[in-house]
Formats: sequence, C-alpha cells, structure tokens
Amino acid sequence: MSYATGQMSTAATAQRAVAVRRRPPLCYNGCMCELEYEEPLFRPPSEAASLILQATIGCSHNRCAFCSMYQTKKFRVRPSAELRAEIATARRALGPDVGRVFLADGDAMCLSTRRLVEILDAVRASFPRLQRVSAYANARDILHKSDTELTELRQRKLKLLYLGLESGDDFTLTAIEKGATVDQIVTAVQRARAAGMATSVMVLIGLAGRERSLEHARLSAAAINRMEPEFTALLTYTPVPGSPLFERIARGDFELPGPRESIAEIREFVKNLDCRTYFTCNHASNYLPLTGRLPTSKRHLLELLDAGAAGAIALKPEFLRGL
Ligand code: SF4
Repeated sequence: MSYATGQMSTAATAQRAVAVRRRPPLCYNGCMCELEYEEPLFRPPSEAASLILQATIGCSHNRCAFCSMYQTKKFRVRPSAELRAEIATARRALGPDVGRVFLADGDAMCLSTRRLVEILDAVRASFPRLQRVSAYANARDILHKSDTELTELRQRKLKLLYLGLESGDDFTLTAIEKGATVDQIVTAVQRARAAGMATSVMVLIGLAGRERSLEHARLSAAAINRMEPEFTALLTYTPVPGSPLFERIARGDFELPGPRESIAEIREFVKNLDCRTYFTCNHASNYLPLTGRLPTSKRHLLELLDAGAAGAIALKPEFLRGL
C-alpha cells in the first residue's frame, strides 16, 4: 500500500482509534488509555472508526518513488509480547465491543501466516463481537501465501485488504519501483478474492505523467476489470517533498497533468471500466469528488466528468486539495 499512499489520511486528522501519543499523553479520541503509536501513522479513510494496531512498523518495501509515508521509519516487526500487551490495553480501555481492527503500518500482510494467525486469534479472543480485520497489503505479501493460508486468515476474520495498483501500466510501475508487475498485482487480488477476502484497490491519477496519461488510464481500467475488486479508489498524485518523484518533478524531468488533463484521465479510466465495483474518487487530493456503483452509475459519472471538463462544475482549487 499502503499506499499506499495518499489513500490514507494521517491519524492525527481523524483518528478515532484509542491511541495515546507519548507527547502529549492524550489519546486521539480524548480518552486516557495507554496505547502508544509510533508516528507517523496512516490508515485508509474508511478505517476511521477502527481500532488500529501497529503489527509492523514502516513498510517492508519502502521504495515507491512517489511515496514518503514511511521514509522516517526503519521497517520492523513488533514483538509478539508487545502487541499482546497492547491488545490487552485496548480491551481494558474499550471493553469487548470493538467491531473493526486495522493492522498497520504499511503492509502488515507481509507477516508470516503463523504470526498473523497469532494476532488474529488474540484480537478475536479480546473482542468477541469483532466483525472484521483489515490491513494494507503488497502483491508480494499475498503471492507468498498459499490458497490454504489465505483461507485460514479469512476464516479468522481478516476480511479486507487494501492494495495499491497505482497503475495498470507496467512501464509506469517499473519507473516508480513498485516492486510488482501488473500481472502479479492482478493475480494477488484474484487469489485474495478467491479466498473470500474483499479488496480495495487504489489507482493514482497523474502517476504516469502527462505523456502517458491516457494510456495509464486505459491500462489501469483493464487491470481493474481483471481483478474486479469490491472497491476501486482513485486518488490524484500529489508530489511529496523528499520522495524521488518529487525531485524528478522539481528538476523538470517529469511533468504532471494539469487539472483538466486529470479529469480527462479519470474519464478515460471510467469509460474503460467494465466490471462490478464500488468506485470512489472522493479523496481530498481529487479535483472532482465522485462516487458510484459500477456499472450502474457509469453514465452518470461520465456526465459529471464532462461537466467538470466543460467548466459547468467547478473543480477543486489547488489550495483546497490535500493528501
Ligand atoms: S508499498 Fe510503496 S506506496 Fe505502499 S507504503 Fe510502501 S513504499 Fe509507500
């Protein structure tokens, strides 16, 4: 993922998880429990109400050229005893009714199946009304696990994985050092889905630059059509200082599409999307907020995009866009 990138907001903005930072010793939702996060902490917007547990720190890949999320962290696995104590603390602070848990940081799915089973069992034992556990995952994390292992994790309530496709264009994936090919990401999502997990796949508008913009859109839609994830999230790439792609842009070696070109890129993506998926393009980074269930809403989404391109709907000004 974690993306993944931007599809996440920082914990400091809307975190409802019961965590406490060492300084100041206040938890994000105002309670005075003893959980501590190693920041920066990211989670998908849809996990705003989840208890967040940092099963790992940082990202095991940490090389994507557009991402600076975990650059300040050296990847490591949290010791079992530490995590068990944290789960016990959360149980004391919240009681047994926690329904959702998100395993951070960048790709907790890289843990061995044995380790994940241990964590999932501890979480289920502490929170008997648990509905789902979710995590960011890289294609490699999933491909390293057998179908039986994936099913075992699903049976223990690991029900939702967030993956960054970023682009369905292999040229772009190589350029940004994603560490996986389109085929590998597609296969990973298909295998997770076959094991009964839901998937949320992210695509980054603008990531292929101005030159490959429409090709990136078409190839990304083709990859999503093959995966048919439950959720497809579009974010608009926003350069982050400190990331290699930011430096390339600053040197003039890479040109981003402008707002209207981004709208054209999204339109090309939606036009070529033929699968069933819940489509969201409502992240703070996007110029035009859109959501809809495909294929039902496709025509409506295209009409909105045309209106945005024609100026009939105002695009979000740069100063209101966020990561
Ligand atoms: S996999 Fe790439 S995008 Fe996701 S957190 Fe790691 S470096 Fe960032």
